[in-house]
Amino acid sequence: MKPFNLLQALPENIQNSLLSNPPWEHWGCCIVCQKLLTYNEYEVFGKMRKLRIHCDCELEHDKKMKVIEERRTKTIEIQKVFNRMNLVPDSLKDAGFKNFKERTGTEKSFELAKEFYRNFENVEMGYLFYGGTGAGKSHLCRAIQRSLDADGYPTLFLDWVKLSDLARASISDKNINIHAIVRAAIEVDLLVLDDIGAGHLTDYEYKTVAFPIINGRQGKKTLYTSNLDPERLEQWFSADKDGKPLDEDGRCIDRIIGSCKFVRNKATSMRRERARAQMIE
Ligand SMILES: [Zn+2]
Repeated sequence: MKPFNLLQALPENIQNSLLSNPPWEHWGCCIVCQKLLTYNEYEVFGKMRKLRIHCDCELEHDKKMKVIEERRTKTIEIQKVFNRMNLVPDSLKDAGFKNFKERTGTEKSFELAKEFYRNFENVEMGYLFYGGTGAGKSHLCRAIQRSLDADGYPTLFLDWVKLSDLARASISDKNINIHAIVRAAIEVDLLVLDDIGAGHLTDYEYKTVAFPIINGRQGKKTLYTSNLDPERLEQWFSADKDGKPLDEDGRCIDRIIGSCKFVRNKATSMRRERARAQMIE
């Protein structure tokens, strides 16, 4: 078949509209608000040009995309810092809402955790889940963090014991940039600080990790888990293992109280339950 000029094959009025300014008043209709979209006319070098005016929905969409893009950049930066460090215990790597085992005493925490995730944009306070070991507190916090991570939010899950080990190791190992970790922990949209109150706090850990992170998280959403009740947690912050004062004025616990609701997880230890089930009486 003989090739032909497609443009010349069109009726004259359509030819004109393709080559010059469109003759119609609207260039489209928004599928969201159904507003007819018009042009803005302006003059360039003596010639009238038409510029498409977009509706608010589209501008709103662009704004949202920009936020998502910023989040992605932040997440990538944080992942760079944490890639080589293993700060999540192996037992919690795959913890999610779907594989959470509900037991008597976990109902409230489970509901609060799901609600916190669903309503993340609007919640103002974080939580401090406390209670005995093996009650599922860490599992739920990890489930929230992984779900938000999958949604594109910059998040971090830090195990306190691993974090404090890292802080101590950073004194002699110049490859560990503890300040970069602290900065990332402050920056993320959600931080989980797991098992706070484990072991003994040292002066160095208090000054380089605990206080800067807890202080920096004011007004941000943070989830803490602890085996200690609030009173014992305050004592944990207040002195090292030799009784040397650290946080005598309760600055850490005050900041946690200011940004978190306290939830006691009443479930008995799953590990203990399993052991009991295996006992022959
Ligand atoms: Zn619209």
